[in-house]
Amino acid sequence: MERLLIKDVLSEENIGKSLNVCGWVRTKRESKGFAFLVVSDGSTQDTLQLLINNETPAFQELYRCNTGSAIQATGLLRESPAKGQKFEMEVSEIIIFGEAEPETYPLQKKGHTLEFLREISHLRPRTNTFGAVFRLRNILASSVHEFFQSRGFLWIHTPIITASDCEGAGDLFTVTSLDLHNPPKNDGGDIDFSQDFFGRRAYLTVSGQLEAEFLAMSLGKVYTFGPTFRAENSNTTRHLSEFWMIEPEMAFADLRDDMKLSEDFFRFLCRKVTEKGEKELAFLESQYKRISCEDLARLAETSFAHISYTEAIKELKAAKESFEFPVSWGADLQSEHERYLTDKVIKGPLIVTDYPKEIKAFYMRLNPDGETVAAMDVLVPKVGEIIGGSQREERLDVLEKRMKQTGIPRENLQWYLDLRRFGSAPHAGFGLGFERLVQYVTGMLNIRDVIPCPRAPRTIGF
Ligand code: ATP
Ligand code: MN
Repeated sequence: MERLLIKDVLSEENIGKSLNVCGWVRTKRESKGFAFLVVSDGSTQDTLQLLINNETPAFQELYRCNTGSAIQATGLLRESPAKGQKFEMEVSEIIIFGEAEPETYPLQKKGHTLEFLREISHLRPRTNTFGAVFRLRNILASSVHEFFQSRGFLWIHTPIITASDCEGAGDLFTVTSLDLHNPPKNDGGDIDFSQDFFGRRAYLTVSGQLEAEFLAMSLGKVYTFGPTFRAENSNTTRHLSEFWMIEPEMAFADLRDDMKLSEDFFRFLCRKVTEKGEKELAFLESQYKRISCEDLARLAETSFAHISYTEAIKELKAAKESFEFPVSWGADLQSEHERYLTDKVIKGPLIVTDYPKEIKAFYMRLNPDGETVAAMDVLVPKVGEIIGGSQREERLDVLEKRMKQTGIPRENLQWYLDLRRFGSAPHAGFGLGFERLVQYVTGMLNIRDVIPCPRAPRTIGF
C-alpha cells in the first residue's frame, strides 16, 4: 500500500479507507483496552492519532514504540470521538523501523528552550516550532521563485567561489588549498597566492550582484537565490556567517522600478505565506505571540511609505526620544533609528532612498546633486532593514571616478567596466537576506533559529 503523508491523510474523504502512514512517535498513552500513539511526519503541523486495540497483534509491539521511534502504521481512518483531533486511525498493523531509548532521547514532552534545541540541531526539526519554521521557510523559498518566474525573471547561478574582494559588503572568507603549515611566501614575506589553487587569492562570495549585473545586461531580468558568506565577527541575533540571499537585477530599470519591485515582492511573499502557512503561523503565534497571520495579511495590503534619507534625518533629529547613536547627516542609520522610523513615525514598512554616497557602495548611481546616490533600503517594523538596493552607475566616467575615490582597484573589474563600455543602460536591483525574511515572518527572535545549520563565529557544530 502506498504511503500517504499525514497532511494528505487528514481529510473527510479518507474516512473509512485503509491507509498507510509513516512517522515518528510524539507520545504514547495507554488506557483500558487501548493505546494511543500520536505521530508526526513533518508534512504538516498536525499530528495523527493512532488507536491500537489490545486485541490486535500490533498491541504486542507497543512496548517498543516510545517517543522518538520511527514507525509505519496501516489502518482505517475514522472520525475521532474525543476532543483534540478530528480524525484518528484504527491501526491493524505496525512496523517499527527504529526504536528510540526513552532514557536518552533528548526531546521529551516538556517544552525545551530554543537555546537547548540549538544544541541538538539534528533533532530540533522534529519539534512543533522548528517544523513550523522550516515549512514556512519552504513556502517562502518556493514563493520567491513563483514571484520572479511569473514576471519573466530568469534564475541565474552566480559563483560561490570568487576572486572579487571589492564589494565592501563585509569581511571575506579565503578559499585556499595551500598547505597552511607551510604556505609559499613572496619576497616581502606575505603568503604567495599566485601559487594557490586558482593562481590568485580566492574567497567565498559575499554577494552575487556584480555577476548578476552582467547577466541582466544580456538576459534582461534575472535573480539569484543562493548562499553568501561573511566573515564578520558580529554575534548578533540578525547576522549569520552563511546566509541565503535573493538578488534580482533588471536592465532598463531605474530606482523607481526597483522600489516598486521590492514592494510587490515583499507583499506577494506576505500574501503567499498567509495562504499556504496558516497552521504554522497560528502555531507560532500561539507559542510566541510575535506576529500573526492577520498582521501578515494586513502587510500584504499595505503600500510602502517613501522617504528620502535627508527627510529621515530630519525626522530623527525632531524625535522626542534620545538615541544611543548620534543622528547626523552623513552617518548611517542604526537599527534603533530604523525602528523609530518604522514603528513610531510611519507605523508600517517604508523605503528610505538617496543616501549619502560616502556610506554606500561604489556601484550605486550618483544623483544629480553629486552628494547622494540612488540607493534604497526597505525597512519593516520591529526588524529594520530587510532589503538593500540601488540603481547602478551606468556611466563609465562617473563609475571610474567613484572607484578611484573609494580606492576600488580597477584591474580585477575590467569586465565590470566593460558593461559600461559596450551597450550600457540604466539598470537596478536589490538584495534580500532570506533568513531575515524568514525571521520576520515566523517572529523568531534569533536568526540562528530559522536555518537548519546556523554558521556564526565559533558555531559550526552541525
Ligand atoms: P546589516 O547592516 O544588517 O549588517 P548590510 O548593510 O551588511 O546589513 P547588505 O550588504 O546590503 O547588508 O546585504 C543585503 C541583505 O542581506 C541585507 O539587507 C540583509 O537582509 C542581509 N544580510 C546582510 N548581512 C547578513 C548576515 N550577516 N546574516 C544574514 N543576513 C544578512
Ligand atoms: Mn552588515
